[in-house]
Amino acid sequence: TKFSDLNLDPKVLKAIVDTGYETPTPIQAGAIPPALEGKDVLGIAQTGTGKTASFTLPMITLLGRGRARARMPRSLVLAPTRELAAQVAENFDAYAKYTKLTKALLIGGVSFGEQDKLIDKGVDVLIATPGRLLDHFERGKLLLTGVQVMVVDEADRMLDMGFIPDIERIFQLTPFTRQTLFFSATMPPEIERITNTFLHAPVKIEV
Ligand code: AMP
Repeated sequence: TKFSDLNLDPKVLKAIVDTGYETPTPIQAGAIPPALEGKDVLGIAQTGTGKTASFTLPMITLLGRGRARARMPRSLVLAPTRELAAQVAENFDAYAKYTKLTKALLIGGVSFGEQDKLIDKGVDVLIATPGRLLDHFERGKLLLTGVQVMVVDEADRMLDMGFIPDIERIFQLTPFTRQTLFFSATMPPEIERITNTFLHAPVKIEV
């Protein structure tokens, strides 16, 4: 498989050329086509497999030309730690650099003021840790009813960190019609239960 065979937005393909990536990794070749068809994806992959691009590239393509609305992100990426969320944000910036898509990074240790300003203006993508996202929601600053694409990254680490109730709550705040791209390195029973509850006929990719 080549990146150019994957139906990605030409602007995304141009950004991939800049990264120097030559061919999609197995998780990318497996996850990107069903994601672009609008299907839910359950990716079982470790860090280092290229999984970040396997959800970021189709997410950018799916968001396309739509416009961000105040306080209503169109896409949500949840990561277990600040560091991981920041890494996803860096990847997003690199892959979305030829698009007009906007993002906000919602992590602890950063003042709410700057994050609020971005959300008020309207962003296409929110990249967040679960607790911080819910903090913003509880403060009445954010609506999740416009979320079209939701990504959960490193779900098994979220389980280890006690975030599963937060993840369930966030799923329930998003529309039933959302598309979910869900990634975990392992599938303990509690994660299996979450995917059975919230994913709709997911395509499972295991690498
Ligand atoms: P990840 O598993 O998302 O943490 O990615 C691991 C590393 O692989 C990152 O440094 C990426 O920049 C890099 N990477 C992702 N996709 C590719 C690819 N198709 N070819 C070469 N490197 C890649």
